[in-house]
Amino acid sequence: MDDKITVMIPEKDVDDKIRILGEQISKDYAGKTVHIVCILKGAVFFACELAKRITVPVTIDFMSCSSYGDGSTSSGVVKIVKDLDQSIEGKHVLVVEDIVDTGRTLSYLLELLRNRGPESVKLCTLLDKPERRTHEVHVDYTGFEVPDEFVVGYGLDYAQKYRNLPYIGVVETDD
Ligand code: 5GP
Repeated sequence: MDDKITVMIPEKDVDDKIRILGEQISKDYAGKTVHIVCILKGAVFFACELAKRITVPVTIDFMSCSSYGDGSTSSGVVKIVKDLDQSIEGKHVLVVEDIVDTGRTLSYLLELLRNRGPESVKLCTLLDKPERRTHEVHVDYTGFEVPDEFVVGYGLDYAQKYRNLPYIGVVETDD
């Protein structure tokens, strides 16, 4: 059965916002190299589009951690599934995430990365659900604040589907 999906943030708005974020990040990192740490899998679409709009040198690495299962409920556990390939020592790390929800994943990850000797660590998220926060996280760059609804598209999945939608949508589930 197909899920019903309604558009929350249209494709053009997402694209425009990523361009603005790219311009801001390029200004803030003038004269430096941005080392993007993309959090798999959800942030891949956003990280690629963002990287294309950053005009200072960019390097990129990937990390995968799990905090959600296959559905829309949290498992309550943060686990590193794939660690970075390269050292971040002395680098200007920009963590790129799809969405900050409770903040559990990011508060754990940012602490982990800060302990590895980077020159700086900042966080850029496409979406933020501030009303759901239980763990404090400082977000340096935010695309959009969204209400407490389960969103899909632009890398975000529901049971691994809908990551390829070019907009942010809300999926109506039975649970
Ligand atoms: P947190 O640790 O902040 O609670 O959760 C972060 C992760 O939960 C995100 O990277 C994302 O994978 C997942 N998540 C949180 N809210 C949503 C949502 O509305 N839709 C989807 N697809 N995933 C979400």
